[in-house]
Amino acid sequence: MLQVGAGAVGSSTIYFLGLMGASAELLVLDHDVVKVENLDRSLLFGLDDASPHEIPKVEAVVRAAESFPALRVHPVRSRWADYVAAGYRVGEFDLALALANEDHVWSAMAEAVLPLTLQATTDRDWGVAFGAHSPGTGYCLRCRFPPDTPVMPTICAEGEIEIESAAGQPETVHASLPFQSAAAAGLLAVEIDKLALGPAAGGPNYVEGRIDVTENVLSLHRTPSRACPACRNFPEDLWAVKYERTRFASFR
Ligand SMILES: [Zn+2]
Repeated sequence: MLQVGAGAVGSSTIYFLGLMGASAELLVLDHDVVKVENLDRSLLFGLDDASPHEIPKVEAVVRAAESFPALRVHPVRSRWADYVAAGYRVGEFDLALALANEDHVWSAMAEAVLPLTLQATTDRDWGVAFGAHSPGTGYCLRCRFPPDTPVMPTICAEGEIEIESAAGQPETVHASLPFQSAAAAGLLAVEIDKLALGPAAGGPNYVEGRIDVTENVLSLHRTPSRACPACRNFPEDLWAVKYERTRFASFR
C-alpha cells in the first residue's frame, strides 16, 4: 500500500489498521514533522514525538507501528512531487491512500495513474469525506479536486462548539476539533476492511457527512467526468499493463 500523507487523518488511519489487526506492507510518505499542535488531531502521535524534538511524522509512524507487528511500514520523508521526480515505481502498489493536502497533491496523484486509490479528509464545519477513485471507471482525484481548487489550509478540522461562559451564560466558540480526523480515518479504515469482502461489497464511491448533531450523510456513486483531462484521456492499455495484476484491480 502506498500512503501519501501521515498527518491527522493518515496517522489515525494507521492506528485503526493496527487495532483492526490488518496485515499490510505500507510505504508511508510525508515530509513534515510532528508539532505539539498536531497532537489533539492524531490518534497515533504522542508528546514524545513533538517534544523535546519534533521528529518526522514518518518516523513517529514507524515508532507507533512497533505495537502493530502485522503492519510493515517503510518510511519515506518526502513530498509527493519530489518522490515522483526521484523515480516513483509505478505499478508496485495494490492500493493507494491520498491523505496529504498540500501542493495540489490530489490532482497530481490522479495524473500519475495509480491503482485503486482511497481518499479521506476533514472539512470545515464538522465535515468528513471519503472517496474511492478507480482509474477509468469511477471519478478520479482530479475530477474531485481540479488543480485550480484553492489549496486547503493545513488546519481545517475546526468547528463551532457551545460552552458555558464564566458568567454561566451559553457561549459559542470556534475550536480545533479532535474528532473529525478520527472520523475521517474511521470511514477510510472501514472501506479498507470492506476490500476483503470482494467487489460485490463495493458501495458508494463518495461519502460525506457531518459529525455534529445534524448527522447529515450523503453517499453517491460518481462517474468519470468527460471534462476531466485525466479521465478523458485515460489510457486503458496502460491500466492493463501496469495494474491488471494488482490485488484490487477487479474493484474498478
Ligand atoms: Zn477525472
